[in-house]
Amino acid sequence: MEIAQKETNTKTPLVEINNLNVEFHSSKGIVKAVEDVSFTLHSSETLAILGESGSGKSTAALALMGLLPKPAGRIVNGEIKLEGIDITNMKESERRKLYGSKLSIIFQDPLSALNPVYTIGYQIGETLRRHQGLSKKQANEKAVELIEQVRIPDARNRLKDYPHQFSGGMQQRVMIAMALALNPKVLIADEPTTALDVTVQAQIMHLLKELQKTNKMGLILISHDLGVVAENADRVAVMYAGHIVETGKVREVFQNPLHPYTLGLMNSIPKITKNDKRLTPIQGAPPDLKSLPKGCAFHPRCPFAQDICKSKAPMLKEVEPGRKSACHFSKEDLTEWNNK
Ligand code: SF4
Repeated sequence: MEIAQKETNTKTPLVEINNLNVEFHSSKGIVKAVEDVSFTLHSSETLAILGESGSGKSTAALALMGLLPKPAGRIVNGEIKLEGIDITNMKESERRKLYGSKLSIIFQDPLSALNPVYTIGYQIGETLRRHQGLSKKQANEKAVELIEQVRIPDARNRLKDYPHQFSGGMQQRVMIAMALALNPKVLIADEPTTALDVTVQAQIMHLLKELQKTNKMGLILISHDLGVVAENADRVAVMYAGHIVETGKVREVFQNPLHPYTLGLMNSIPKITKNDKRLTPIQGAPPDLKSLPKGCAFHPRCPFAQDICKSKAPMLKEVEPGRKSACHFSKEDLTEWNNK
């Protein structure tokens, strides 16, 4: 396999996505789910993709995994590189070889991702037997190790249990064990803790970060949860209506958002230091991707929108070192308007 043989240049990003466009075609029309999206991910780094439902964050991840629903979903432009190799149009049979050892994904709902009629020992073991050619006994031993690694007590006995015999948090741990079985370079965690209560959520994220440290994995964390992103990511790409509207280091973006949409998100969550300030939700709802508004897609909801916003779409451009924003107006303008 070409990728397996390639020597990794530490400066080459693990993942590089350039100008990605993804569409869904149906009898009701074309949905432009992802438009002109670019980002990179490096070893040991956590990149969060943050946005509301329908913003395109999960579609971008599915495109990276090569798991867009067919035939409706298709990449119509752009490139996806893994360790410097273009995998955008790689044949499915070749791409399948990347799963597990190069790319892996944890989905939001573990119960729908796990097969209810097989024990979890069988399901973890199957990955190992298929990709590493382990015998049944070897796969079983490795599965015990993995279950211990994700801190499920009584690992050897629990391998014989079926998914429904685990709690939601434990099922998610099983999913993590399966995703990490082949020591992937890149792990995509798509809303990995949304269905869990806050304590279990923190435990799962802590576990993921610990395993990331051990394996030097690149982690793409897809979430709508600002708290999860703030606590766990190094960089963030904020998505709205299929576009990235702001990127930067998490701390900088959260402390000083440059795009009105990000600012709206920040103003809609409680802050310990500003408990006297009322929360201000973003007005309106995300647009229908089949008929996006002309100009800036955020303009119908943007409190700062001007005439130009209704006719001209802003480009994502660098506005400070390491910070990009897609807005016609400067940080100074927005700060002045925000403080009024
Ligand atoms: Fe708001 Fe206009 Fe900036 Fe869009 S371009 S975010 S509508 S101010």
